[in-house]
Amino acid sequence: MGTGKLTIDLDALAANWRALDAMSASHVQTAAVVKADAYGTGVAKAGRALAAAGARRFFVAVAEEGAALREALGPGPEISVFGGHMPGDTDMIHDLNLVPMINSVDQLTRHLEALPGSPFGIQLDSGMNRLGMEPAEWAAVRDIVLDAGPRLIMSHLACADEAEHEMNPRQLAEFLDMTHGLAVPLSLAATGGILLGPDYHFDLTRPGIGLYGARPFVDAHRVVDLDLPVIQVRDIKVGESVGYGNSWIAERPAKIATVSGGYADGITRHLSNIGVMFFEDTPCPIVGRVSMDLIGVDVTHLDVSPASLGLLGPHQVVDDLADATGTIGYEILTQLGHRYTRHYARGRM
Ligand SMILES: *Cc1c(COP(=O)(O)O)cnc(C)c1O
Repeated sequence: MGTGKLTIDLDALAANWRALDAMSASHVQTAAVVKADAYGTGVAKAGRALAAAGARRFFVAVAEEGAALREALGPGPEISVFGGHMPGDTDMIHDLNLVPMINSVDQLTRHLEALPGSPFGIQLDSGMNRLGMEPAEWAAVRDIVLDAGPRLIMSHLACADEAEHEMNPRQLAEFLDMTHGLAVPLSLAATGGILLGPDYHFDLTRPGIGLYGARPFVDAHRVVDLDLPVIQVRDIKVGESVGYGNSWIAERPAKIATVSGGYADGITRHLSNIGVMFFEDTPCPIVGRVSMDLIGVDVTHLDVSPASLGLLGPHQVVDDLADATGTIGYEILTQLGHRYTRHYARGRM
């Protein structure tokens, strides 16, 4: 097998959902955010595993993602769309029974005219300035919205991964202010907001990243492993170089393994000459530049010739790789390539 092997532990995913669900009171519903192909893990398999764990409400970014999820889950679970009701979405929203989270007066008009009586939610902007109605906009349409019976009113926190950030209470106060006295289910918290405590939970939480095993849910089970097969091993002499641009030059005789995987698989070039892979418990430095399909790894210190090396596993989780390359776990996960052979494992935990 020439491609990398991506292992996704569906039991760990389900256990993470249950753990996040257990952090809020029993009257608070815990949804599952499965946008971007379930953060790169595969929306059909992840969606079904989360539904089996007990999730009844799912969120995606755009209606097209809702279509793939509906096919996987069948008619029961509620699927909401953060992007709301975009031009051209009407048939999909209607036929697949999606619930758009309306962002603006334009979207509200589109939805109420095209699909009167069809379910929707409302997104309010409590300070992030990304999606949702501003306070004045909301005040202008509030009565029309309440007449139409929204299923949910939600907002999103900008700094919830920093528990002490003053933005959190500020957005909480703004959201409370905008929703005061309404008899409509409310939602403010994603993974970070769940960890901020019950004041932030309202009626529904919307965890994403924590399900997939990354910060800010530091107690999460690891969901993703990635192993890359070794295609060739060679001995090189002092002064010889490895890879494009001769960026690594041997200062001692070395044994270099060339593994199958590269930036076309979402393994960033920023790992060139700084990243490590693992053979069992032993770290092996990435040497030379990460190229499109191949990576050089120094295995001089191993006493066996490895068949494969691990990039994600027990010694290096998604957040470690993110830290090494100046990004976040979300980006590592959503960049996972499509050439890997995917294994959906059960019970590796
Ligand atoms: C992505 C997203 C979530 C999930 O956030 P995590 O930080 O991954 O838990 C929740 N709500 C909205 C509006 C989002 O865009």
